[in-house]
Amino acid sequence: MNIPFATFERMHAAIRAEMADAFESVYDAGRFIQGTECTKFEKEFAAWNGAGYCVGVANGLDALSLAMKALEIGKGDEVILPSNTFIATVLAVNYVGATPIFVEPDETTYNMSGSGLEAVISVRTKAIMPVHLYGQAAQMDEITEVAGNHHLYVIEDCAQAHGAAFQNRKVGTFGDVGCFSFYPGKNLGALGDAGAILTDNPDLADRIRSLGNYGSDRKYHHIYKGTNSRLDEMQAAFLRIKLRHLEEYNEERDKIAKKYRDGIQNPKIRLPQIGKNRNHIWHIFAVLCEERERLRAYLAQKGIETGCHYPIALKDQPCYQNENFASLPIARLIAAQELSLPLFIGMTDTEIEYVIDALNAFK
Ligand SMILES: *Cc1c(COP(=O)(O)O)cnc(C)c1O
Repeated sequence: MNIPFATFERMHAAIRAEMADAFESVYDAGRFIQGTECTKFEKEFAAWNGAGYCVGVANGLDALSLAMKALEIGKGDEVILPSNTFIATVLAVNYVGATPIFVEPDETTYNMSGSGLEAVISVRTKAIMPVHLYGQAAQMDEITEVAGNHHLYVIEDCAQAHGAAFQNRKVGTFGDVGCFSFYPGKNLGALGDAGAILTDNPDLADRIRSLGNYGSDRKYHHIYKGTNSRLDEMQAAFLRIKLRHLEEYNEERDKIAKKYRDGIQNPKIRLPQIGKNRNHIWHIFAVLCEERERLRAYLAQKGIETGCHYPIALKDQPCYQNENFASLPIARLIAAQELSLPLFIGMTDTEIEYVIDALNAFK
């Protein structure tokens, strides 16, 4: 049996007619940037998450960097972020000219908690940037408490966590800004690049919107040296349809994850843990195995494709060799041992059981 790591085929087959209608409607309306689809999506996505405002942007990296620009974070400032994340989180800090400061994640949830934050806060610290990695919320009560005590901004990287909650409150609504990516493979994915930010602060929302639209507050009137980062109409129309299915998609992912968690029993494989007071939307089903490469090759031989998020710790990336990052053993351990199992909408019980049996038979 061949099982892909991820595929859109089954999800997209089921919504084909709705998506085709959305395409035609935008096509016929003839307005492709800053039209009604974008405005409607922004309203719907803000409401779905329980946030005051949403601003669509071109991608998740821009969401993060525009949020920092709008908060006037730049050269000379420090931003604290987890040592294990996708490189975009760090690149956003690099792009605004600020200095990234890594903290190690909690070893059980792979996510940021309050511990370790105080030790790295300096007079230059401007913000804490938790990442809700793999689809699980970071320890937001502790993080917001530390941020409050030190008057720091909180910028959430929610790119992997659309609908993940902490104490029944959705991620993206704890900090000053929540930043989302709608890269096709995310739990809420466009048919191309797209992103958005959430905030309860109307001035901040205006600033981000303006920065992403050449810094203009009205046509040909530029109050900032902005950039071009907008959510286009076609993607907004597609996202509106997928947003209506998101809860059901996240529930389906949870059912698959539950089968994995109940079924996989192999002392060589460490299953993901869910922290207290939160759900998990399973963007990635991440297991740890000391013999990751041997396990990966073994599964490939059985037709099971896997992923790895991410194989090289950020500190060890070629582009960061001249930086003075602290020693980060947990990030390195995750990079060396993490393996992502297949998990996608439309996965059948037979496929799930095939993966479970293969993992249990690994010696
Ligand atoms: C995908 C991702 C991003 C970047 O999103 P893009 O839309 O690809 O720019 C940022 N942070 C994390 C954690 C991500 O997974």
